[in-house]
Amino acid sequence: MTGETIVALDLWHLKLPVASRRDHGIGSVAGAVEVVIVRLTSESGAVGYGEASPWSVFTGTPEAAYAALDRYIRPHVVGARVGDIAAIMGNANKAVAFCTDAKAALETALLDLAGRIAGVPVSALLGGRCRETIPLSCSLADPDFGADLALIERLKADGVGIVKLKAGVQDHQFDMMRLDRLAADHDDLDVRVDYNQGLSPDEAAGRVYDVAMMDVTFIEQPVRFDQFTLMARLRETIDVPLIADESVFGPEDMMRAVAEGICDGVSIKIMKSGGPRRAQAVAAIAAASGLSAYGGDMFETGLAHLAGAHTIAASPAITLGCEFYQAKYYLVDDILTEPLPYEGGAIRVPDGPGLGILPDEGKLAHYAVATTVAA
Ligand SMILES: [Mg+2]
Repeated sequence: MTGETIVALDLWHLKLPVASRRDHGIGSVAGAVEVVIVRLTSESGAVGYGEASPWSVFTGTPEAAYAALDRYIRPHVVGARVGDIAAIMGNANKAVAFCTDAKAALETALLDLAGRIAGVPVSALLGGRCRETIPLSCSLADPDFGADLALIERLKADGVGIVKLKAGVQDHQFDMMRLDRLAADHDDLDVRVDYNQGLSPDEAAGRVYDVAMMDVTFIEQPVRFDQFTLMARLRETIDVPLIADESVFGPEDMMRAVAEGICDGVSIKIMKSGGPRRAQAVAAIAAASGLSAYGGDMFETGLAHLAGAHTIAASPAITLGCEFYQAKYYLVDDILTEPLPYEGGAIRVPDGPGLGILPDEGKLAHYAVATTVAA
């Protein structure tokens, strides 16, 4: 069973074309996104996959994730037993600082491999399910608002009822115009606003106050990740929940965020926490402190979405849905062998062994700009 030994660790650094430009408070994405895929192979030939989805302005670079796995983490994985996930992750955490996206890829691959060998889904290894589907939120971040309005029509046709407006990139009038338009024409949507740290301390109070008046569901991370005092002060001035994203990576940050009262809820991402189990720890602290949580993501493929979906399926405290939209609504071509199951405005969590769906190795080879696998 999971006493099997891991005999190989392979990597692909992928460059994947995307459908449009997206502007966020901390930076823009256009042309392509880059991710790192890891494959672990056990002595019986079973395989498990994981994904690191870095963003240089947020968690780090794909080059760093690749090197972390290839050079620094590999010696702690090859030769280890598949089932010793806690020990392997402990060693990986000691071997290289930060690189949380690389560690998320590793733990995902370990869970996928263990699940495939044991014949159970990853969600079962994370404690078992409390839900089968997760409501989907899609972000609106196109500098061309007309393109986002067209996207909304497509989302509504697909049953998606939650959108998140990326704000704080252009001027305040652009943000308020878009919120006015959403309120006027799409008042059936659950609208959330995310500044991605985009506001300066002098402008934050006024802009956040105006947006709070628009009856949005929450406002996320208006100021820089390290401005805890300002986050706490802004929270006191508004009546809608303030959500922390970039300020909270792992359980340690969550503890500080609670102690300093900076937020009413948190965006939980395996790429920030360093894997599904630490993401669950963030969720547990949030819940114990009376905070809400949703499942955020980075610029991911369906493979990382699957890891997040299994994590949320096994985390009762993550109640505000997920943002795993890229595989369907942003990537030109996802890498899975079958599409991620989007269903009526939600993600259905696969119930087959491991993550439930494998990546297409032909696509990994096609989109790779670097790999450890011989051609
Ligand atoms: Mg965010």
